[in-house]
Amino acid sequence: MAVSRSSSLSPHTRLVTGGRPDAEADAPLNHPVTFASTYHAGGERGYGRYGNPTWEAFEDVLGELEGGQALAFASGLAASSAVLSLLPEGAVVVAPETAYLGVLDQLRERLSTERIQLRQVDISDTAALEAATDGATMVWLETPANPKLDVADIAAAASAARRAGAVSVVDNTFATPLLQRPLELGADVVIHSATKLIAGHSDVLLGATVSNDDDLVSRLERHRKLHGAIPGPMDVFLALRGMRTLGVRLDRAQASAAELVGRLGTHPAVDVVRYPGFGTMCSIEVTGGAAGADRVVQAVELWVNTTSLGGVESTLERRRRWPSESELVDPSLIRLSVGIEDVEDLWADLARALDAAVMG
Ligand SMILES: *Cc1c(COP(=O)(O)O)cnc(C)c1O
Repeated sequence: MAVSRSSSLSPHTRLVTGGRPDAEADAPLNHPVTFASTYHAGGERGYGRYGNPTWEAFEDVLGELEGGQALAFASGLAASSAVLSLLPEGAVVVAPETAYLGVLDQLRERLSTERIQLRQVDISDTAALEAATDGATMVWLETPANPKLDVADIAAAASAARRAGAVSVVDNTFATPLLQRPLELGADVVIHSATKLIAGHSDVLLGATVSNDDDLVSRLERHRKLHGAIPGPMDVFLALRGMRTLGVRLDRAQASAAELVGRLGTHPAVDVVRYPGFGTMCSIEVTGGAAGADRVVQAVELWVNTTSLGGVESTLERRRRWPSESELVDPSLIRLSVGIEDVEDLWADLARALDAAVMG
């Protein structure tokens, strides 16, 4: 424990050393999965909905990386729901024009019952974002944001939010704390869909909040206790096991993403390439509109045509196949999540599918 808490260690090392049982003779290296609905009385945990040693191991690692106190939730949406539950009646929420649909749908539902006011802005326009924070209660950022990969200036938005007395929240799912640490840039709360890059193997759903504001942390923890959106211990164990290799997975997938982005830019079937310059996600707009894009996602063999992202396997999907996706997203936009396969195999498969789309 003492080693993993040393601030001199690189995040790549902390991913490996954090959240371990104390190094005593015959103690296991990894926290076992604790299946327990209750605990003997007299301690702090008390009951299975209040705490679990397997959650705590995961929370230690994520908290160290983001620089705050992490709380595990049943899914990314359970984590975002906990944060949105902090909003008082009539709250004014600034949110991106396009973002993860589940979060925007949660916000719209709260809007439809008039419990909040929603101000959607282009988060890549810092002046517009700052102007929108005037009188706001919460500033919700996702950066890079689904599916156009817009990037926000977190520091500028967080300080504008602070001046306005608003809570700033950053969905850090796409960047992970290895590429971006919003709390260090002044944000109040980070949320994660650990389902994606953190767990990394497309076999578990998990979410988390991270904050260094004690009051926010205790309100979020209380929400988790009372509303019951708790993760199963096996899921958290799998996510922590996956997170140990986040550094190598991210390095490789990011290098491949940068390589593919360069090649996609010269392909005749590709009109637009969107890539924020870091990370494992990119989007393309292809010739032939929605039909052209559908031909591409159906022609790939190695890439998987599916939603979700951040796994070891490369995936892609045409985003407007979802009826509630924003009309600001081009009907031909395909979002790509680059995995860790050989980049030449990935390119060969994608180029062949794009070639077929041009000829089709
Ligand atoms: C997937 C995702 C979510 C929702 O997470 P779940 O684990 O699916 O509930 C939230 N934000 C972003 C950016 C996501 O990609």
